[in-house]
Amino acid sequence: MSEQRRIRVLDPRLANQIAAGEVVERPASVVKELVENAIDAGSTRIEVELEAGGARLIRVRDDGSGIAEEDLPLALSRHATSKILSLEELEGVASLGFRGEALASISSVSRLELTSNAADDPTAGWRVVAEGRNMEPRVSPAPHPRGTSVTVRDLFFNTPARRKFLRTEKTEFSHVEEAFRRQALSRYDIGWILRHNQKTLHQLRPGDDQASRERRIASLLGKAFLENALHLDLAASGLRLWGWVGLPTHSRAQADQQYFFVNGRVVRDRLVAHAVRQAYRDVLFAGRHPVFVLYLEVDPTVVDVNVHPTKHEVRFRDGRLVHDFLFSSLHRALGEARAGQPGTGQS
Ligand code: ADP
Ligand code: MG
Repeated sequence: MSEQRRIRVLDPRLANQIAAGEVVERPASVVKELVENAIDAGSTRIEVELEAGGARLIRVRDDGSGIAEEDLPLALSRHATSKILSLEELEGVASLGFRGEALASISSVSRLELTSNAADDPTAGWRVVAEGRNMEPRVSPAPHPRGTSVTVRDLFFNTPARRKFLRTEKTEFSHVEEAFRRQALSRYDIGWILRHNQKTLHQLRPGDDQASRERRIASLLGKAFLENALHLDLAASGLRLWGWVGLPTHSRAQADQQYFFVNGRVVRDRLVAHAVRQAYRDVLFAGRHPVFVLYLEVDPTVVDVNVHPTKHEVRFRDGRLVHDFLFSSLHRALGEARAGQPGTGQS
């Protein structure tokens, strides 16, 4: 195969399928992207429904702003977004999305149907269908309450190599549930529902007061965590850290219950992980991992979220400051707990 090939611009569908490799790994990644869109649309209620671990069907319904009819075909195009217009806006971006890639990517590797209504008239609404993005999206009238429903069927039906990487229904669903848990912990003011194979597994009422928040945490992470956690809320140098940190006695063998949010976005970050590890160093046995749900609030312009397509990583303008603030806040909270409640430390 040494035949000289000419350079050509990729066909848009193929380009989208390649891009999909970065953001659409499995059903859980589809759920993450669709739910982020629902949050960005200002929804107060988000419903996630799956069949067969999401491989057969993923549906996310919301009661957000909806999409106007004339914008519907664009919603599925690559690099089409309503969220930013300029580099300045990117630098201060507060929405979860901004790359304009998720719907284009997902629709290139599934059978996607999006129905939306941006008006208050419940008899209005439009649907756009795209199958593997083979054809031009077709728009037809379809009544829908205000908001949007996106249905993704047969994920990876046209990319068999990708489909082969899907695990069992149970495994895929557990990833979806984890994605759901993160999203539900990111917004207490939104009501959430998760259904799998017609069964309702989570139904979380909205409520942003302390009692409602704790009810949600107990329902998603278990009562035992709350009973063995400290609540903290500290602010310094334009940073605020609040949430719940588990006592050393409630540690786990795996780092599987650690939730860290930066401005509402769930983040896995080395600097954050390091600061937390340091803070627990003196009170945890080696090999044990703390449980926490923590929220860091910073000015959006001092954090860069455009580091990776999945946006799980962030870059802080002043990493040292953030690290030291996290470390000292946690260290202090854990130290006070130890001083106040002898016996909760490990001795
Ligand atoms: P991004 O979120 O990066 O803008 P997406 O491909 O995820 O890109 O979505 C493209 C556009 O479609 C969004 O910018 C938004 O205008 C619109 N959109 C997608 N999902 C929804 C939704 N659930 N409600 C309202 N608008 C939506
Ligand atoms: Mg998006």
